[in-house]
Amino acid sequence: MAKQQKTCPKCFSEHAVKSGIVKDRQRYKCKECGYHFTVEKLGKQIDHYYVTKALQLYIEGVSYREIERILGVSHVSVMNWVKQYNIKRAENTEYRPTYQLFSYKELLAFYKDPANLKGAGMIVTEVGDKYMMIRWERFRK
Ligand SMILES: [Zn+2]
Repeated sequence: MAKQQKTCPKCFSEHAVKSGIVKDRQRYKCKECGYHFTVEKLGKQIDHYYVTKALQLYIEGVSYREIERILGVSHVSVMNWVKQYNIKRAENTEYRPTYQLFSYKELLAFYKDPANLKGAGMIVTEVGDKYMMIRWERFRK
């Protein structure tokens, strides 16, 4: 894949992080000024980053619509990837995952409290410039 030009058009900083896909274009968020911008012509080739993230979330039990909302990729794309990679998730009717988006500082604060870690399965995955905490309260009655 060609190297993306990701200079912020507002402040010309080159420190930008991926922040979803908008109409097949990679969207970035400038780390300096917070401006969102997209780069030209990502074409049909969606960054593999989003494929992996989408499949991770799918396996964790997050719905197609929720994945669309979280990652900014269409649920149709996600459905296609699930088919393409032949991903199967375990049947689960007993519990639903809950998730929260944290900044780095919020994530650390969350981990500091042992009560937050007890009795819940959890996984943390990077989403754009945030961290997503997915939890299942499967051990609680
Ligand atoms: Zn900027």
